[in-house]
Amino acid sequence: MNPSIRVGHGYDCHRLALPPEGGPLVLGGLRIEHDMGPVAHSDGDALLHAVTDAVLGALGLDDLGTQFPDNDPRWHGASSDHFLKEAILQAQNLGWTVGNVDATVLLERPRLIKHRSALREHMSKLLHVPPDSVNIKGKSGEGLGPVGQGQMVEVHATVLLHRIS
Ligand code: MG
Repeated sequence: MNPSIRVGHGYDCHRLALPPEGGPLVLGGLRIEHDMGPVAHSDGDALLHAVTDAVLGALGLDDLGTQFPDNDPRWHGASSDHFLKEAILQAQNLGWTVGNVDATVLLERPRLIKHRSALREHMSKLLHVPPDSVNIKGKSGEGLGPVGQGQMVEVHATVLLHRIS
């Protein structure tokens, strides 16, 4: 059995806080204007972290936290673009390419809808796929729980990989 597709799932969350505890809000590699931001070792980009873990999960490799530990000074303030690029490189080296990505971002404020095209455009470049192969859905927490109270961002992502060799 030599499958031609593989699927991966990724999840990430970050607590949001006012500066200086919280850094700038970065999602999908883009800086998004907001008064609160993630408390994180890297740039705290929960969307790219979830997508990176989905790619690594589909490959059956060690996850993001194992490959890029949050106690390693190299990743302090690091752009999470680097983590996703690294995961895509590992996929290519093992003979896989991304088919499509579908992600759901749970965030009370700001609404992601106005950033959707820019996010798809930027992430499509990191993933080497057309923008319509990257789907980003925004959901609010309906005022409930830490997401609903604006204290957390959560992301669920699914990735399909195709065999290229
Ligand atoms: Mg994270």
